[in-house]
Amino acid sequence: MIRTRFAPSPNGSLHLGHAYAALVAHDLARARGGEFLLRIEDIDGTRSRPELIAQCLADLAWLGLEWEGEPVFQSARLARYADAGERLKAMGLLYPCRCTRAQIAAAATACGPDGVLYPGTCRGRNVDPEGAAWRIDMAAAIRQAGPLDWVDERAGRQVAAPELFGDLVLLRKEAPASYHLAATLDDAADGVTLVTRGADLFAASHVHRLLQALLGLPVPAWHHHGLLVEADGRKLAKRRGSPSLADRRRDGEDGRAIATALRAGRFPAGISLSPGVHSAP
Ligand code: GLU
Repeated sequence: MIRTRFAPSPNGSLHLGHAYAALVAHDLARARGGEFLLRIEDIDGTRSRPELIAQCLADLAWLGLEWEGEPVFQSARLARYADAGERLKAMGLLYPCRCTRAQIAAAATACGPDGVLYPGTCRGRNVDPEGAAWRIDMAAAIRQAGPLDWVDERAGRQVAAPELFGDLVLLRKEAPASYHLAATLDDAADGVTLVTRGADLFAASHVHRLLQALLGLPVPAWHHHGLLVEADGRKLAKRRGSPSLADRRRDGEDGRAIATALRAGRFPAGISLSPGVHSAP
């Protein structure tokens, strides 16, 4: 049976782009007789705001979306992430790093999908692990996993290229696990068979596929959908004036009508759907 999920991070109010992402996940599951789950990615202690969780649940209900069972909270799963981290350490694939952002920026010579590539400063060094972040030795991990591929429903078969990201942080100083590790473990734990998310996270799936191979997790299919963008082509963002779903709800707008419009590809003035770099031909 197909199972999808919507996985918001409660570090900002949801806006129309989130509504679109939630509808894609929900509707793909429903259309195929499957289940739609809700996961709250609330482990970024520095940015996560608990008061936004209730708002998010109310926004989704206002759109007319129903999810299976209780929402999953990442904050309740820290032991799982730590266990997986220990397994990767035992495989010799993680190393501690104490570099600051400024040091990395000064030493970096290349960029990856998330910004500057870590130049490998701490790899092979005897770094005090106490309070350090743990990075994956990407080259060693790729050697260990061997060649991998994965399938996006819109873009087709992809050869996994996690090397694009370099030695990513998987266990962070200020948060128990990185997005990549926590999301990959959760999708497996919850039996998610179709991972849907915006095309801006397409490249992340290369890393998730690698982690699945290293940790012996089941491999889902992916569906990276287009993004709602403003007239200048940039993603919607509340800070640039895009009203939040909560604002619209409090202003008395009809959430179900908004959901119907988004499904039909009718967007408010100035907003359009960018198919995403990786759309099917
Ligand atoms: N919490 C992530 C976000 O809001 C979820 C991405 C995903 O669906 O994997 O961008």
